[in-house]
Amino acid sequence: MDLIKLGLKEAADLLKKREISSVELTKACMDRINSRNERLNAFVTITEDKALEMAQRSDKRLKEGNARLIEGVPLGMKDLFCTEGVLTTACSHILDGFVPPYESTVSANLWKAGGVLVGKTNMDEFAMGSSNETSYYGPVRNPWDESRTCGGSSGGSAAAVADYMCMGATGSDTGGSIRQPSAFAGIVGMKPTYGRCSRYGMVAFASSLDQAGAMCRNVEDTALMLRAMSGFDPMDSTSVDMPIENYDQNLDKLTLKGLRIGLPKEYFIKELDPEVKAIVDAAVARFTKEGAEVVEVSLPHTKYAVPVYYIIAPAEATSNLARYDGMRFGLRIEGENLADTYRKSRSKGFGWEVKRRIMIGNYTLSSGYYDAYYTKAQRVRALIAKDFADAFTQCDVIFTPTTPTPAFKLGEKISDPIQMFLNDVFTTGASLAGLPGISVPAGMVGGMPVGIQILGKPFAEQHLLQVAWAHEKMTAFAALDVKAA
Ligand code: GLN
Repeated sequence: MDLIKLGLKEAADLLKKREISSVELTKACMDRINSRNERLNAFVTITEDKALEMAQRSDKRLKEGNARLIEGVPLGMKDLFCTEGVLTTACSHILDGFVPPYESTVSANLWKAGGVLVGKTNMDEFAMGSSNETSYYGPVRNPWDESRTCGGSSGGSAAAVADYMCMGATGSDTGGSIRQPSAFAGIVGMKPTYGRCSRYGMVAFASSLDQAGAMCRNVEDTALMLRAMSGFDPMDSTSVDMPIENYDQNLDKLTLKGLRIGLPKEYFIKELDPEVKAIVDAAVARFTKEGAEVVEVSLPHTKYAVPVYYIIAPAEATSNLARYDGMRFGLRIEGENLADTYRKSRSKGFGWEVKRRIMIGNYTLSSGYYDAYYTKAQRVRALIAKDFADAFTQCDVIFTPTTPTPAFKLGEKISDPIQMFLNDVFTTGASLAGLPGISVPAGMVGGMPVGIQILGKPFAEQHLLQVAWAHEKMTAFAALDVKAA
């Protein structure tokens, strides 16, 4: 049995039956990480000793018959989730040496369910980027083609999962950072509704948008992982007090007959690669064959989603990043006086993309421009949310491409921020509206995987997972296989 290729659910079941042990499974993942990470750069911290300790504890529980939901399964954790006693940098130089004294709620939930931490995954600095090229620790390479990006900002999680280094990994999605890298890596990635997962202990980028989610190699695993990590948390005032459904248990309880699939006409734009469009069309056709109906819907404010996102996210980032001053966290460059220490620490500690966002955010929040940019952007955000609410009176789910093209080459867009931002055309709208979305593999273009995005009503995670599962069953893309090197 090739242990590293087991899915999360499959591994959890075999562990419960005691056909495999967590220590052997964890060691298999560690071997994979140790042999592949130098090339892919998916992990920035590898927690080998901690992983083996956690695995031993899981094996003890399994032996005693006290196994929890995902007991003994190796997971990667994006480097912006605070992990007690384990370096957490959000891949920024300014968080050099920061070892959190506490655990994020999402990671704590996963450990409470029996997960095993194999390491912290690479990401764009403070989750700002679409290609993982803004990481202080260098870019992630796409396991399908190492000359290409694996997307961002959760690029390390996507590569780690696609390359069989772990059974699942957390991501965070502010404007697309779970869905876009999942599409580029040929895996499943779900961003739940804003408020479904706690933001406590997640290094903040844009607080009204940031949301944690799960990235795995198939839909059932994603459902199981999301179930383990989500839930109400009194430590996050935007966390929603709603019961968690057993997402992985009800995947087959959906009749496709009569399902109304909305296709937003504004999403089928000229920048969309025709081969990517053909993949979305083929996915829709699979559903109509089973009795689903297609409804053309309109999201008229779509063209403002990217500009609105790139006003609101930097504005929030500016204030969230004010806390990094060389006094409390990580890097400090001693200056001649306090102000000089701030200046030197921040100048050295932040990368150029983060500085760009701080400058944009300070500009749009400054007294002369606040109403012209920030207030206006907030108003348009409300219109974007209303577009979705209106569309969902006519359809049950919305299908779109996840990205306009398959994974692009490393270096191709990094010097052109507008080109980079346009990667997010299909993902930022749902983020601004706080809606859940899932990207699932749906085909290949030029040897690279392509994903479709399925969007749903607020808190329709279960429904989205059912639709995504139905799609997986109709295709051969459940386990797109990266040729193991
Ligand atoms: N690519 C977007 C950005 O650069 C989204 C990032 C994210 O979702 N964290 O801000």
